[in-house]
Amino acid sequence: MAGIKRMETDIAIIGAGGAGMAAGIEAREAGARTIAFEQAAAPGGAAIISGGGCLIVGSPLQKSQGIHDTPDLAFKDWMDWGGPSADAVWARYYIEHTRDDLYFWAERLGVRWVDMKPQEGNSVLRWTRPERNGLGLMTKLIEAYRAKGGALALEAEITALRRDNDRVVGLEGIDRKSGERFEVAARTVLVASGGFNSNLDMVLEVRPDLRNDRIMEGSGRGSTGIGHRLVREAGGYLTHMDHVWFYVYATPDYRDPGQRRGLVFRQAPGYIWVNQQGRRFHNEALSGGNSASPALLAQTPRHAWAILDRPMTATLEIADPYYRDGDKVVRAKVEELLDNSPFIRKAATLAALAEAIGVDRSVFLAEIERYNATFATGLRNEPAFGKPLAASKPFDTAPYYAIQIFPLARKNFGGVKTDLRCRVLDKHFEPIPGLYAAGEVAGMAGGHINGRAGLEGTMLGPAIFSGRVAGGWAAHEAGFGAGFKGSPNRS
Ligand SMILES: Cc1cc2nc3c(=O)[nH]c(=O)nc-3n(C[C@H](O)[C@H](O)[C@H](O)COP(=O)(O)OP(=O)(O)OC[C@H]3O[C@@H](n4cnc5c(N)ncnc54)[C@H](O)[C@@H]3O)c2cc1C
Repeated sequence: MAGIKRMETDIAIIGAGGAGMAAGIEAREAGARTIAFEQAAAPGGAAIISGGGCLIVGSPLQKSQGIHDTPDLAFKDWMDWGGPSADAVWARYYIEHTRDDLYFWAERLGVRWVDMKPQEGNSVLRWTRPERNGLGLMTKLIEAYRAKGGALALEAEITALRRDNDRVVGLEGIDRKSGERFEVAARTVLVASGGFNSNLDMVLEVRPDLRNDRIMEGSGRGSTGIGHRLVREAGGYLTHMDHVWFYVYATPDYRDPGQRRGLVFRQAPGYIWVNQQGRRFHNEALSGGNSASPALLAQTPRHAWAILDRPMTATLEIADPYYRDGDKVVRAKVEELLDNSPFIRKAATLAALAEAIGVDRSVFLAEIERYNATFATGLRNEPAFGKPLAASKPFDTAPYYAIQIFPLARKNFGGVKTDLRCRVLDKHFEPIPGLYAAGEVAGMAGGHINGRAGLEGTMLGPAIFSGRVAGGWAAHEAGFGAGFKGSPNRS
């Protein structure tokens, strides 16, 4: 195979997102040489475009607000929310390490944790946001990885794992710039390639029940599931793959040439949702994956319309880089979407809007009238579904908008099964020598840490934490350091 570029390293990391960068930092600190191979032109993965929120228990931010939180309480919330398929051992492991090995660790790398937001299923505030969200967090991790001497190969797509009998001994890949192939010899290989929710075919393969519905791709662009294939080919065990976490406050991205991607929109507390029969069906303030998604999926057909009047669009945010300038919303682009998307209808009257979206006019108008009437009652919550009214108003200012919403596959709660050292396990639950997996490819950590539902902040947090664990143990197997220990919070 003359002409193939050959490289050699101690640890080869696939993917330079949250897990990959955390793993690289850990492995470099243990003294191992690392190369992180990233198929995109820049590092960061889904993590850098994420909200950045991490579930953290017992943090100084909680203490400063008088919030008493303990690993026991968080563990109870976690298991109640995630259900029987949540991995209790990994959940406990993560929760106990969030304070010292995520919050303080990230602070030492320059990350500033700035505030917390309520999320469904949590008894107390613990979704903790870094300054400038995922961008701020990942910028610091990438800087730290580089500063510690970690190598980064960009536009380098890994296409195969190299094996010697049972042992994984390296990689093969392709340089996307030159088209040239390369081979890497490594003592250990660490797969941190993220999820598969930007590969609709793979989503529908694990969720055949949704094949007749419109489902949208909604993770980072690199979340195409290549890492899952590589691990499967090496004999790794994939588990809970049907645990796909959907959001429903999302509309098709009409600019996507493949017509597969969706756009998440937020900050429209005034809106209501109606189904294709023109009826409300849910408390729109509960928009999470464990409340709104099952509610939308129970409609026939499985889509709905988010109804807004003109003032309600003023705060609308689209969670996609095209509609943002860093952490600022570009309003002109939001207007462009409202005016041009074929999945958004606009009308001068509510009756005309009913026509435009093809719902029964009298049912729809009666629904709006009933909703509007609650504002005169002085109630805090409207009686039909309990939506809080404080940030809402009646529908009274034209033009009126209807944004068509469909389920969007955002996060993968199943993936590669690993042990607590992040060693990839085969179908006999034996570790495959030389092979590690962390982050979303491993269902965020271990295979299925969340179960069917996440408390939020339970994706990025476990991805980064498991990255650290994997980096420490991959370095140890390669002959560097004592493996990841960390400092559990047993209070
Ligand atoms: C818009 C958005 C907002 C989110 N907000 C939050 C939040 O606030 N809180 C939270 O907990 N979670 C959030 N998440 C989820 C969270 O960001 C991900 O679960 C997390 O980033 C996973 O980290 P990772 O390192 O496993 O994957 P990623 O960060 O996606 O990194 C994987 C990297 O691997 C690369 N890669 C894949 N295959 C290959 C290959 N064959 N060769 C080379 N490179 C490859 C990819 O290009 C990518 O850069 C959000 C997700 C999205 C999409």
